[in-house]
Amino acid sequence: MTDPLEHVANQRRLSQKVERFTESVIREMTRKAMIHDAINLAQGFPDFPAPAIVKQAAIDAIDADINQYAITWGAKSIRDAIVAKFGEQTGLRIDAERELTVTCGATEAMIATLLALINPGDEVVVFEPFYENYGPDSVLSGATPRYVALEPPNWTMDVAELEAAFNDNTKAVIINTPNNPTGKVFTRRELEEIARLCRQHDVIAVTDEIYEHIIYGEPDAPLEHLSMITIDGMRDRTVVINGMSKTYSVTGWRVGWTVAEPAITEAIRKVHDFLTVGAAAPLQEAGAIALSLPRSYYQELADGYRARRDLLCQALDGAGFGFTVPDGAYYVMADISAFGYSDDVTFTDFLVEEIGIAVVPGSSFYSEAERGAQQIRFAFCKRRATLEAAASRFEKLK
Ligand code: GLN
Repeated sequence: MTDPLEHVANQRRLSQKVERFTESVIREMTRKAMIHDAINLAQGFPDFPAPAIVKQAAIDAIDADINQYAITWGAKSIRDAIVAKFGEQTGLRIDAERELTVTCGATEAMIATLLALINPGDEVVVFEPFYENYGPDSVLSGATPRYVALEPPNWTMDVAELEAAFNDNTKAVIINTPNNPTGKVFTRRELEEIARLCRQHDVIAVTDEIYEHIIYGEPDAPLEHLSMITIDGMRDRTVVINGMSKTYSVTGWRVGWTVAEPAITEAIRKVHDFLTVGAAAPLQEAGAIALSLPRSYYQELADGYRARRDLLCQALDGAGFGFTVPDGAYYVMADISAFGYSDDVTFTDFLVEEIGIAVVPGSSFYSEAERGAQQIRFAFCKRRATLEAAASRFEKLK
């Protein structure tokens, strides 16, 4: 317990914004996994290597003395590569000089975007459960979040509830598809409903598409990633956020970007410049090579993740968890009510201490802890051997 007098003194010394959120629970679970020597299915980072060609490109860039600042909004090589790939996927021609900003990961892309858009009194619509960063991002940018529920088991959204969340103060809506933590892939119909409300209330869609290539569907009905920016009337009111982390298995490189029409981009670039100046220059060069990989790379990536997903889901099913098999991203949000624990945090502590598996308590993804009290999140971006070891530890749960 902190001394109450010290607490009051600190309240005066520190920002009130910082008082309103905690440290990341996801990263805390990684630390607990280390303490208990547990298998880390908590934080979403691969435990397998990045593609050799991408690693070599970074080594080559350092060898070539790419050691100084890149252009603040991104080295020309990676911006050109993003334009080419984005054009191939969406059919949209974006301007590398005026519509792109390279950032320190999608994390900086999101906070820089919100800082560039939000004024006091502005509201942001957030789907819940949400990736934990969006909460502190709203606080730091000064936005008031308005939550719209994605209801289990299929994480469906209610259009009437969505409509009720939009009003004259709504500035932006944050969409994450494929979704962390649920694995939901928003349908064209859902995106069109959201787009309709954006046009009606003059709202900007901020879409985190970091898992765009980790998408499954069924062999006879493959799912395609659909970007909000391609929906009618959304070209100039969408900020697309993406990055290298998940697609090229380099979460520690911190290279991300935003795509947005010129006026929004100019505002994002100003914020980005004073937040971080720029992302690591040699890693941006490697990004240009990564983004030029052939289509087959992305197919193999998705196939590999499908196999990992199926392995984990089979183990979870056998152990008695309730869940919907994810359509995208690399997480399973599971229901723990079969185990009879009072809440997610108690169960998570038991898992990491007694079973040797670290996961993220569901409450980290909700504005009110109670809503996530019977859920936990598993990450399956791990080697087959890691997932098999986890599966055998689940045997102890039965
Ligand atoms: N996106 C990853 C996850 O959700 C890692 C994020 C983090 O470190 N907070 O686990």
